[in-house]
Amino acid sequence: MDRQKEFVLRTLEERDIRFVRLWFTDVLGYLKSVAIAPAELEGAFEEGIGFDGSAIEGFARVSEADMVAKPDPSSFQVLPWSTSRGDQHSARMFCDIAMPDGSPSWADPRHVLRRQLNKAGDLGFSCYVHPEIEFFLLKSGPEGAPPVPADTGGFFDQVVHEAAPNFRRHVVDALESMGISVEFSHHEGAPGQQEIDLRYADALSMADNVMTFRYVVKEVAIDEGVRATFMPKPFSRYPGSAMHVHMSLFEGETNAFHDPDDPNQLSQTARAFVAGILEHAAEISAVTNQWVNSYKRLIHGGEAPTAASWGRSNRSALVRVPMYTPNKASSRRVEIRSPDSACNPYLAFAVLLAAGLRGIEKGYTLAPEAEDDVWALTPAERRAMGYRDLPGSLADALIVMEHSELVAEALGEHVFDFFLRNKRREWAEYRSQVTPFELSEYLDL
Ligand code: GLU
Ligand code: MG
Ligand code: MG
Repeated sequence: MDRQKEFVLRTLEERDIRFVRLWFTDVLGYLKSVAIAPAELEGAFEEGIGFDGSAIEGFARVSEADMVAKPDPSSFQVLPWSTSRGDQHSARMFCDIAMPDGSPSWADPRHVLRRQLNKAGDLGFSCYVHPEIEFFLLKSGPEGAPPVPADTGGFFDQVVHEAAPNFRRHVVDALESMGISVEFSHHEGAPGQQEIDLRYADALSMADNVMTFRYVVKEVAIDEGVRATFMPKPFSRYPGSAMHVHMSLFEGETNAFHDPDDPNQLSQTARAFVAGILEHAAEISAVTNQWVNSYKRLIHGGEAPTAASWGRSNRSALVRVPMYTPNKASSRRVEIRSPDSACNPYLAFAVLLAAGLRGIEKGYTLAPEAEDDVWALTPAERRAMGYRDLPGSLADALIVMEHSELVAEALGEHVFDFFLRNKRREWAEYRSQVTPFELSEYLDL
């Protein structure tokens, strides 16, 4: 047995752990869990744990429902709750999902990302990611009640009368105890809005970390008597919650995005990568912004991008080149500002990487930097500058995605088909709703 598996088994015994939760993520980004007793784990490492894949959105059609979850020992962590909850420690491991014959399931988001990372590997690159994750803390209220922010703070405010004064510290402590480092945390622009930025990691570990992060944030919120939401845009009058994704490609120890001679210190590789993201931004939008509600965030003046442009410090740009540490080659990276906090991180990282790698492979040239505030331009001006608008709704995004060979290839046929079917259904359901807006506008016509 390899060393990692031995370490897991030894830790279970030493820490007297009663439950091991096997975690995986469905196509829509929901975290799934099956708990097993430690005694079962040795077998689970060898053969995996069989489960009914049809129980999980996107995993299987009824006729081929048998799936096997194989725990990844490198993702083993003890969950931090036992002291406050009074129960015994439990641990978690992320799983890869396999078919009964042992081949990887094409519907496993982790596998989709792995495939894209292998592709990057074939080109000589490893991919590093760090996300800035925004979310709202709400006062807890009765089911169905309208959301109320938990505080009245603003951008970087040190809030005095917080509903949950220790919230960010407890989240950071819990994450660090699970080996997830936090770089920054601060109050964001809207009342109740928080941001926590995770320290960079390889893309697969980071997708696991984002799933863990959401779980930890929700648990800590409950402990502190508030409620956390990653909904992209819970309030019409405040900005929504982004998950800005910082990405870089390394060739061995060398940051392939860095070139000290470029005015933005971006290498040819980085420029082609950004060109790829901009070229395919509309096609991948249904994945990076996957809900009806996501498109209420991507509006003019909402601090979120609405068109495919790039710039150094322009907040209206879709891709930004951060210059906090101008001469540090290792931290040269690009920041993609369109994804929201409710995306499936595995699929979102996979399509972003696919778009960027396409730019590199095909040698796309990067258009000039956007110097103006893209929000202030008219549609005709934006067209003249070559800044193509992002889809304005989930329905528009699906129409573009449907024709995208890039997204079909990145997601694989099964996930691509399931995703489109599922999202069309979501749109049809939404479209059949008569909203308070319509009642107030049209009732007296
Ligand atoms: N909350 C903003 C958005 O929805 C982003 C704010 C920021 O620049 O950090 O995109
Ligand atoms: Mg922010
Ligand atoms: Mg940012």
